[in-house]
Amino acid sequence: MANRTDQLLRSAWTSEPPQLPPHAVRWLRQETGLTDSWTPTRALTAPPSELPEKAREVLAGIVGAEHMLTDERSRLGRTGGLSYLDLLAHKGIGSVSVPDAVVLPADPAEVAAVVKACAELGLSIVPFGGGTSVVGGVQASERSVIVDLARLDRLVLVDEVSRLAVFQAGVRAPDAEKALAEYGLTLGHVPQSFERATIGGFAATRSAGQASSGYGRFEDMVEGVRVATPRGEARFGVAPASAAGPDLRHLMIGSEGAFGVITEVTVRVRPLPKVRRYEGFVVDGCERGADVVRKLAQDRVLADVTRLSDVDETRVSFALTGGLKAAGLKAYLKARGVREPCMLILGWEAQDKTELAMRRAATLRKLRGAIRLGRVLGEAWRHGRFNGPRQRDALMNAGVCVETLETATHWSQLTELCTKVRQALTDSFERPIVMCHISHAYETGASLYFTVIAPRSLEDPAGQWKRAKAAACDAIAGLGTISHHHAVGVDHAPYLPAEIGDLGVEVLAAVKNTLDPSGILNPGKLIAP
Ligand SMILES: Cc1cc2nc3c(=O)[nH]c(=O)nc-3n(C[C@H](O)[C@H](O)[C@H](O)COP(=O)(O)OP(=O)(O)OC[C@H]3O[C@@H](n4cnc5c(N)ncnc54)[C@H](O)[C@@H]3O)c2cc1C
Repeated sequence: MANRTDQLLRSAWTSEPPQLPPHAVRWLRQETGLTDSWTPTRALTAPPSELPEKAREVLAGIVGAEHMLTDERSRLGRTGGLSYLDLLAHKGIGSVSVPDAVVLPADPAEVAAVVKACAELGLSIVPFGGGTSVVGGVQASERSVIVDLARLDRLVLVDEVSRLAVFQAGVRAPDAEKALAEYGLTLGHVPQSFERATIGGFAATRSAGQASSGYGRFEDMVEGVRVATPRGEARFGVAPASAAGPDLRHLMIGSEGAFGVITEVTVRVRPLPKVRRYEGFVVDGCERGADVVRKLAQDRVLADVTRLSDVDETRVSFALTGGLKAAGLKAYLKARGVREPCMLILGWEAQDKTELAMRRAATLRKLRGAIRLGRVLGEAWRHGRFNGPRQRDALMNAGVCVETLETATHWSQLTELCTKVRQALTDSFERPIVMCHISHAYETGASLYFTVIAPRSLEDPAGQWKRAKAAACDAIAGLGTISHHHAVGVDHAPYLPAEIGDLGVEVLAAVKNTLDPSGILNPGKLIAP
């Protein structure tokens, strides 16, 4: 497991310390007042493990001594997820708790045995997939054991007739796609965390991929789940649809490890696309852009990928890539009366050219008021779509506070929500760049994804972001959901009651109490203590 620990210890995305190109640094200085001085960093260290000897023996007896780890590197590698605050903590800024142990069960039976043993020993469990949570979902709690699902890495079966596949929970997205490709199939779930996140993590967080308009959100792809709880194993989902009472699969999808450890997921799969076309467009103004996307959604002609950047995100994207000859583009758009360019990316994936042409034509017929910039922009977006985490590492290394947050609401409230969150974030920093895009669209509404870039505070880097995030969450409350796809974790748990009501929280607590009477499963996540 040394390689796995090595990879996780690079809690950021890359092994090389990434640097911003000089033109980007110059641009950031101009825009935000970024300087060369920032709070010194230091390596995070771990206190000694306090796992009792008896627990060590019991757990090693289940998974084997080599998969029961208490050394500092293994524990640090699974300390926190990948939020800005987590990454700061790994630079010795702010606080984070380190787990007492890491266990790596081999299969669902071993997971079930570990869960049962931990319940008997009074140890809390934090299920750990890819560790890409950005909401404190994999944060260790007192006397906690990380259950790392990396060894549950098998494609269990493919039912080509029904277009179903069963994956063990620890299979990472690229490996799942590779395995399915051998059958000419795909899942089509491509979040920005694709390179690291797991099938179990997607299910546990109700993840949404970039092509959600075409392939659906992850919960739309889940046909069934197998779960280990302190009360025993459960399987939910036996048919494509059912009227046998409330759908218990959905108690597990989005349960964030608080109701059980998902060990297997049965997913709906599709034929692998043979042709793709990604194109860039520009719309004048964000509100007009949102109307364009709403019309596509309500006329049911959304492209598989539909993504609208606001004016600031468009400006930053054009300025930093420079590849699109930003100055020439500006003149071109000005000549066409575009004052506030908002970039719209549309991507279609299909089985053959005819299907693609028909679907693209259906979208374009309804696409009013968008100026086509062509495939170069669309393909540039597609090729760079996993660059975000790497750019974030580079920005952090340059002394920048950089983080994202997301929400969703109905079309009629979208502008108000966007304005309020933007204001809350802008007011929290001196000279920030606040960017937003519509990342996922539905007939009734859309999600908003914000990115903030600002010089990192010298005195209190962690507090700076905590205050900004709290202001944004307050702005969201009552207008939108506290999370469209990042989940609740620890960070959003205090805001959940405002969204689902005290009774809603009581229902969740009752489910938890039934499945996990001693409260050992991922304490503090989903339901605030
Ligand atoms: C750079 C970056 C980009 C991202 N982009 C997206 C995006 O585009 N769309 C999106 O939806 N999310 C995105 N995320 C958030 C994150 O990747 C998702 O929440 C993802 O679904 C988590 O998968 P994971 O395997 O890494 O889970 P982890 O981070 O390991 O865990 C997430 C939560 O699920 C629980 N969990 C994990 N596995 C299991 C299991 N088998 N059983 C029970 N509970 C489990 C954990 O305890 C934790 O609470 C992004 C994150 C980063 C860092």
